[in-house]
Amino acid sequence: MADIIQLLPDHVANQIAAGEVVQRPASVVKELLENAIDAESTEIKLIIKDSGKTLIQVIDNGKGMSVTDARLSFERHATSKIRAAEDLFNLHTKGFRGEALASIAAIAHVELKTKQEQDELGTQIEIEGSDLKAQNVVVTPKGTSLAVKHLFFNIPARRNFLKSNAVELRHIIDEFHRVALAHPSIVFAMYHNGSEIFNLPSSNYRQRVVNIFGGKTNEKLVPVEETTEVLKISGFVGKPEFAKKTKNEQFFFVNNRFIKSPYLNHAINSAFEGLVKDGAHPSYFLNLTVDPKTIDINIHPTKTEIKFDDEHTLYAILRSAVKHSLGQFNIAPVLDFDSDPNLNTPYDYKDKSVATPPTIEVDRDFNPFKEKVSHGVGSSKPAVTFKKQNTSSWDSLYVGLESKSTQQDHNFSEVEFESDSKNETLFDDSQTETTQATYQLHNKYIVSTIKSGMLMIDQHRAHQRVLYENLLKNMTVKEAVSQQLLFPLQLHFSSTELPILIQLKEDLESTGFAFSSVKDHTIEITGVPLGVPESEVSIILEQLISDVEQEVPDSNFSATDLLAKSMAKSLAIKTGQSLNKQEQEHLVNSLFACKEPTVSPTNKTTFITMSVDDIDKKFM
Ligand code: ADP
Ligand code: MG
Repeated sequence: MADIIQLLPDHVANQIAAGEVVQRPASVVKELLENAIDAESTEIKLIIKDSGKTLIQVIDNGKGMSVTDARLSFERHATSKIRAAEDLFNLHTKGFRGEALASIAAIAHVELKTKQEQDELGTQIEIEGSDLKAQNVVVTPKGTSLAVKHLFFNIPARRNFLKSNAVELRHIIDEFHRVALAHPSIVFAMYHNGSEIFNLPSSNYRQRVVNIFGGKTNEKLVPVEETTEVLKISGFVGKPEFAKKTKNEQFFFVNNRFIKSPYLNHAINSAFEGLVKDGAHPSYFLNLTVDPKTIDINIHPTKTEIKFDDEHTLYAILRSAVKHSLGQFNIAPVLDFDSDPNLNTPYDYKDKSVATPPTIEVDRDFNPFKEKVSHGVGSSKPAVTFKKQNTSSWDSLYVGLESKSTQQDHNFSEVEFESDSKNETLFDDSQTETTQATYQLHNKYIVSTIKSGMLMIDQHRAHQRVLYENLLKNMTVKEAVSQQLLFPLQLHFSSTELPILIQLKEDLESTGFAFSSVKDHTIEITGVPLGVPESEVSIILEQLISDVEQEVPDSNFSATDLLAKSMAKSLAIKTGQSLNKQEQEHLVNSLFACKEPTVSPTNKTTFITMSVDDIDKKFM
């Protein structure tokens, strides 16, 4: 039989390797930023277009490359950072595998410009899918510029696999944060689609944290310092009361390299035990310095996981150091950094929410989102979204609400739900004359009688469902009514928060928000959706940002849906709010006019029913 084994051609091998190194635009960002740092740059600029799908460019002022090195840098296993396997155990650089550039060049259009200090002229190289397209002598400043265009141009499957721009940008910003935090003395700037997102001057660590996460952060930070024989810890943890719903203010750096370590994270959580609420995550920005010989960073292709020789000791030291700092802080708050007045937010949402706890007025005659609760007004359109089994049980669900709701029709616009027609069968026509009694239980549930027994609705979830469907509809047909603000509202956002809002601008506008200007981390809001109180705006937007941040990156992300969910959550009647009879009925009616009344937008049960039989059983 003939021999069948072949050596893969280099460009194929590179494409395969690229799969490991480059999962998404953010992976390229990480590799290029790390190379710039390894080149001893003091200023690094990151330029992104379309969340990295069109362009990722890193410009540094580092040591540059000679003509030969420039060519060699794109070869696989070409590295200036290690010479022998032993060097792996004494690494002081980020890179060492010599894989990144070869991999990136295999799956994108790459343009390199580089010049060393002593050289008069630099080198320009263009590579497309591992093919050298051009090599020229150019005039270029000292340092290196590497532009990566059309990532995955030759692997359409990968390209299609990329998430929405908002999600990919989020990943890029995460990588940028990690690198920028690990190197506070390096000047970093980041631009997305032509606008500056970050401009970080050379500073100390505390200032770097504040410059990235916003002026509000300064007061949150508690210093942690500890030096032992095996480990040096320095950095900050966030005060417990500022613990976040998201984990994106959690950073461990080991020898200036960002790492993920569930085990060490656990050490921090245990130090915070009893101090933060369930589901809240303390912020931390911690640098651990250990002897490079005691760690192995080679176990993961993207190098965010490392192996420590003695994890248990590190765990114990870390936990006690954090506990100690928190304890000290309880006695005397620590503020050791003169805050730059420009960093402080002009609008402090924390204080605000304490002074005026959020309340939503439910005015039955007032219609924030042009909803229509027209039960019993049949349209000829069949409702396609109803599930069979539900329909049949709803047939017998209701008694007596129909007459009430029909009276309300004149209050509402002409927008119709697909499900309107279905409601006819939801209600028992024979009893339309009776006024249906509803009762509010513990300002949380609305109880009502139905043909078969009893119905109990969770008011907060039910209202979320109602608002969600209305918001979604408004966003798709773009007909929301905006309410002009007499005095525009200025809201301050951190450099992380701002891009999220900008991404969502169009969707926000379709709900009725109007933004007039975006500069210096400040958004000027000139219009809000009709019915949204001004005092709620910052809370809604903060909630929205936190929801976007929390969105699992790999789940299906739809900005419109998320915005509708988030706003519905913020605006819905809260548990604890007392509702009068009319409000109760209105809510019940609106819920059953929804396409999917059974669950809240986050898939939680909105109501339960109990048949007389069930109740009878309880009395047996
Ligand atoms: P590694 O970083 O693992 O060595 P890379 O593929 O990322 O591998 O880079 C290959 C080599 O190219 C590096 O070892 C370095 O010598 C050179 N290089 C890459 N980027 C830069 C840069 N921005 N400035 C100077 N040299 C660079
Ligand atoms: Mg590298």
